[in-house]
Amino acid sequence: MSDLITVQGVVLSAAPVGEYDRRIVLLTRERGKIAAFAKGARRLNSPLMAAASPFVFGSFSLYEGRTSYNLNRAEITHHFVELASRQPGVYYGYYFLELADYFGREGNDEKEMMNLLYVAVRALMNEKISLRLVRCIFEFRLTVIQGLMPQIFECAECGKTFEKQDRLYFSLSAPGVFCGGCGQVPPDAFRISYSALYTLQYIASAPLKGVFGFDVEDSLLRELERIIYRYTALNIDRPIKALEILKVMVEK
Ligand SMILES: [Zn+2]
Repeated sequence: MSDLITVQGVVLSAAPVGEYDRRIVLLTRERGKIAAFAKGARRLNSPLMAAASPFVFGSFSLYEGRTSYNLNRAEITHHFVELASRQPGVYYGYYFLELADYFGREGNDEKEMMNLLYVAVRALMNEKISLRLVRCIFEFRLTVIQGLMPQIFECAECGKTFEKQDRLYFSLSAPGVFCGGCGQVPPDAFRISYSALYTLQYIASAPLKGVFGFDVEDSLLRELERIIYRYTALNIDRPIKALEILKVMVEK
């Protein structure tokens, strides 16, 4: 016998299996990251067809088998179908899903990461904010959720809070920000502007609802990219396929 459970989650990926089935990966509040089989999901009249797709948020009823879960029913609350026609927005979306898959763990409460994905995907469809900035905010907030925030609220060496006139340095190896005044800056540290530091602090601490609610000038965006992309890469130990695709799609 197997039990029917219901979880709140988002579909991170869906791959074809056999002739008519799909294997999906779900990020859920109740069970963390889990895989499930959606039997018959590729049949045209299957009620699971729409649900067993990336970017679907909802509640999923699953049979817990001995070795895997089987999707029985799904109630979709949000499906970002419009994203599919957005280029290159959709490639950012797939990148976000794969990054969430990378950090997701079975058995964890992944509610925070689910909620971040939801607001990030919505932000990808908001024309008022640049996709590059959405990526910066998503990556940095994700590392904060994972408990990987660098020390950005006070000097990583002397503990002093920062002031606008400080010469500030960011070190990936520390990792954190140094005031420059205490004379203890790691050799790998590079200069960071006060605006960039302030933006990192905002991304780390703002309520999720408003975290995508700002825009920045291009020079600041480029500085944020230099810091955040390197910091994300430091916390990842394998290539993220969707990022390679994103780079090709953005550069073409
Ligand atoms: Zn200091």
